[in-house]
Parts: sequence; structure tokens; C-alpha cells
Amino acid sequence: MAAARSSAGDSIYLDHAATTPLDPRVDEAMRRAAADAFANPSSPHAAGRRARAVLEDARECLVALLGGRAAGGSRDRLIFTSGATEANRLGMLGTAGPHPGTVGVSPRDHGSVIAAAEDLAARGWRMHRLPLAKNGSAVGAAAALAATTPGRVLLSTTLICGQTGIRESLTPLVGAGVGGKVFVHADATQAAAWEALSFAEAPLTSVSLAPHKFGGPRGIGGLLVRGGLDVMPLTPGPQELGLRGGTEAVPLAVGFAVALELAAAAREATRVRATNLRDRFEEQFVAAAGQHGLDTVVVGHGADRAPHIATIAVRGCDRQAFMMACDLAGIALATGTACSSGSSDPSPAIVALDLPGWVPQSAIRVSIGPSTTEADVTEAVHRLDRVFRGLAEAGLLAAPRAG
Ligand code: PLP
Repeated sequence: MAAARSSAGDSIYLDHAATTPLDPRVDEAMRRAAADAFANPSSPHAAGRRARAVLEDARECLVALLGGRAAGGSRDRLIFTSGATEANRLGMLGTAGPHPGTVGVSPRDHGSVIAAAEDLAARGWRMHRLPLAKNGSAVGAAAALAATTPGRVLLSTTLICGQTGIRESLTPLVGAGVGGKVFVHADATQAAAWEALSFAEAPLTSVSLAPHKFGGPRGIGGLLVRGGLDVMPLTPGPQELGLRGGTEAVPLAVGFAVALELAAAAREATRVRATNLRDRFEEQFVAAAGQHGLDTVVVGHGADRAPHIATIAVRGCDRQAFMMACDLAGIALATGTACSSGSSDPSPAIVALDLPGWVPQSAIRVSIGPSTTEADVTEAVHRLDRVFRGLAEAGLLAAPRAG
């Protein structure tokens, strides 16, 4: 079976945190589902019942893969959404409850989480912007907020920061009364493929994810919610247990489940490979910049980081110019999360770290996936030399190191 492509034409694709190529095995499973289970799962006839069964199998498979409680009266529920943005919104607004409380978000969080918190603030909630600790974590501040705040507290935690790759530990939230007056929504969009989750034991009330980050299709995501938790739909309708209206996309749900199954099966081997490739890329990037007299900072170096994301700043180099030069040289990388990469504002997740002032303006993000090869990394580093030379010739590298 053909492997998922890691390059587009001659371009080396190092932007897997934005989206990944569709795994051919997922593609095949979706094609089969589109043929076998094409009917509307709400239709009462046999074809509809068949589509319903396939949809519910995919749902159950995902709940099990995420370590949710799959049996009993208070079983955890997975609601299919259009992607992680909608899942984050439903996880925050849908679980907020009818009375204003306190909401805590941090610079690690995706824009969709921040936007949902701002909407809550407009409805009378007190909004806390949690600071990051030196190691890039916000969870200590979140736990402190929960411990010192009366009334309902809704916290967001991003398990792997999409900008820096810095991981979050949930340990400080154990014993924080999660599920009582404290609700914790976890954004696992960057984490789901790379880390096993035991939702049933975790101090969390909801989790969001989307399969296009791990070889699955775009146009679908999911929110896993704790059994018994009241959720207010954002799009009312009878589908998805009354929590999201609209005819379900059965083939996409199948692709979602197959993609997570494949990612989970290969997880340990992929983690080791990706960590090695990332470390090698970082070392060689820093060396290549050094040969041009340029200082670099590897953001989150020494912190607990995910295997697939490297964020590196080159002193004196604007990140947009760097990204464009890489694109011309045939390296697809990012200046930040895809939804903010056109923005001229530096990433809040980098600004909030204790780093030299030039770093946020100069940081680019490289992200690898299971289909990234050693040859991709070697060739990308080789092309970087051309990028640095081109930028220097164009006068786009300010103040290289003296000497
Ligand atoms: N959350 C995180 C941490 C992300 O990295 C992203 C996308 O980059 C999202 C949410 C949004 O995902 P989607 O594009 O599926 O809505």
C-alpha cells in the first residue's frame, strides 16, 4: 500500500501541525463507507440503519481509543463536529452552564478557545488570562484559579501547544474538584495522535480533537464529554444525541476512527522516529544558521515537548520573510498555527515565554509527521543553506553575529 505523501511536488512538507496528508488506508476505509453506508443515519429503513450502525461503531471506537467510559449509564459521549475549532467552541460554550462564572484561558490556547472565552465574558463571565510558567505550562495557574475562586470555574488546557509543541501535565488538576464546580476542557488537537489519553481517569470534563492532524480527513472533529455532563448545543437539532444538528458525515466519521486507530497502533515507534528527526533537524538548523553568523533560539528547548514540533527563531530575520524564502526553496513550514500564520502579530504562546524580545518576531515552526523521512530532513537542511544565502543577499538578515 502506498505511504502518505510527505512532499508536494518538489516541496518538502514540514507543516504537519497545520494538517497532514490523508493516509491511503484511511482514504480506502472512507471510500468503502461512502459506498456501503451512504444513507442518512436517521432514516428508519435498512440502508439508514446500516449507516447508523457504521456511525455508532466509529463513535464507540473513538471513545475507547480516547480512554472514555464506553459502558454503563454515565458513559462518556463523543459528539462529531466539523473540526477542532467547533469542538473547542462546544467544549467551552456548551458546558458553561446558564449562570456566569469564571473562565480561565492561557496564551497556549488556540484562537477558537480564546474567542469562546471572550464570548462568555460578553455574557457576564469573569475572564482570567492565565500566565505561563517558565516551562511554558499554564496548568499550575489554572489549578490555583480553581482553588481560590468561588462558584463555577471553566478552565481550558491545551495538551500540546500548537505553536511551540510544549506539553501540559494534568497533575496539578488532580484533586481540583473537576466535575463538581470546576470544569476543564482539554484541547487535544495536537496531542491525540502522539499521546495516549485515559479520559475516564483524567481530571477533564471534555476533550476536543480533529483527525486531519493525524492522517485523517478534514471536515470532521469531535468533542468527548463526560457522561452525565449537561451540554447546550450550539446548533440545535435531533442528531448527535441532540447536541449538534445536521446529517452526520458517516464516511468522515469512519475515516476519523481509522486514522486514530492507526496512529495509536504506531504511536510508540512514531514518537521515537519523530523525536530523532526533530532533534536532528534542530541541531542541523542551528548549525546551518551558525555558519552564516546567525544566532538562534530553539523555543521550548529543555521543556517537556511533543516530538513533532520544532519552533526556532533566527535573530535578525523576520519570520514571514523566512517562511517565504523557504517556500521558494521548496520547504513548506509555518510562521505559526495555520489560522494565525497570515497575521503580523507574533504568537502569544511565544511572547508569553521568558525569551529575548526578538524571538517572537523571528520564530518559525517546523512540524513533522509519520510520513516524514530522514531524506526529507537531510534535503531540507541542505536547502536551508540556500535560504540563508538568499536572505543575506537580499539584505533580509539584519545584524549577523560579529566574528
Ligand atoms: N487547537 C489546536 C491546538 C490546533 O493546533 C488547531 C489547528 O491548528 C485547532 C485547535 C483547530 O483545528 P481545526 O482546524 O480542525 O478547527
